[in-house]
Amino acid sequence: MITVSSLLDQPWQDRYKRISNLNIRSSIYDVTNQCNLRCKGCFFFSSNEHQAAREEMDVKKWETFIDREKERGVNLAILIGGEPTLHLDRVEAFYRRLPTYCATNGLIGIPRDRFPDMMVGISLWGSPEDEKLLRGRDTFSVSSKNYAGDPYTYYLYTITPRQVGKIESVIKKIADVGLKVHLQLLSNDEKVDGFSWSEQELQAIGREMDEVLDKHPRTVISSKYYHQIITTGKMMGRPFGWNECPSVTESLDNRKPQPRRLIHFVRWASDLKTVHRCCTSATRDCSTCKDGAAHMSWAMVNKRDHIRSTEDLQNWIEVYEMFAKLYRFIPW
Ligand code: SF4
Ligand code: SF4
Repeated sequence: MITVSSLLDQPWQDRYKRISNLNIRSSIYDVTNQCNLRCKGCFFFSSNEHQAAREEMDVKKWETFIDREKERGVNLAILIGGEPTLHLDRVEAFYRRLPTYCATNGLIGIPRDRFPDMMVGISLWGSPEDEKLLRGRDTFSVSSKNYAGDPYTYYLYTITPRQVGKIESVIKKIADVGLKVHLQLLSNDEKVDGFSWSEQELQAIGREMDEVLDKHPRTVISSKYYHQIITTGKMMGRPFGWNECPSVTESLDNRKPQPRRLIHFVRWASDLKTVHRCCTSATRDCSTCKDGAAHMSWAMVNKRDHIRSTEDLQNWIEVYEMFAKLYRFIPW
């Protein structure tokens, strides 16, 4: 019988042991329906999720809700929106109760005296020109000043087809301000001309992502197996999509047979009652989905399938380590 220890030498077994006890149980929370930007291709606004529920304004109700989430077993709160930093009292309610990750566009600096070690992920959509086109302004020039050198912050770089051949220059700028970066791909939910992926572009960007990881291993938090999965949309010969997605809200998951999924995962709207279909756009065609977290979770929940060769299991370990680093369950 193939076992974990029969496939791994001692150093890899140690890495495996370090992550196998983490037992991460995440859920996602829309902190607000408001944002100080309106990016073309934002999954939240393009799917009208900002109108799905009326925002809860009473912070006491947030606190009670988060206590219930903790009792439900959640040990990682992923805060999105809208722009969570517009409501720091709600962010603080999470931070005081649970390990918390806050996604932001970085235009507002998180006060570190109030949130000393909260993980922050800043969205970045490429070069200043692309950012101006898609997001209305060059956000990096502001966010890099707000967060330079912050040990609990990284950039979540959403790569667009226009960035093919250019991503290293963005990585260098991030390294220069003393921050880390994780890579994902644009899904182009609003069908902006020139921003949908061709097969050729996906292959080229996959190679480029591998190259920047080799050249900047202290800056890029990633894994080649993740690059392969997200650019091909395939894992172990199986296509990603609705039938395989791990990040579907538990109460809305009526798939039969049920695929391996994130245990008790829910994406909550900002009224604290409504739930959304999944971790991203409620209206996205799953066959076009490039969501980075959903792809890495896909690999993570399918551990058993990777216990078949040393290379497969090492790939699985690297993806799990990447996820654990991004949410600071293990150091960078
Ligand atoms: S900053 Fe984020 S939440 Fe706001 S519009 Fe852009 S993608 Fe959407
Ligand atoms: S849009 Fe993406 S994350 Fe959402 S259910 Fe479909 S495949 Fe999963």
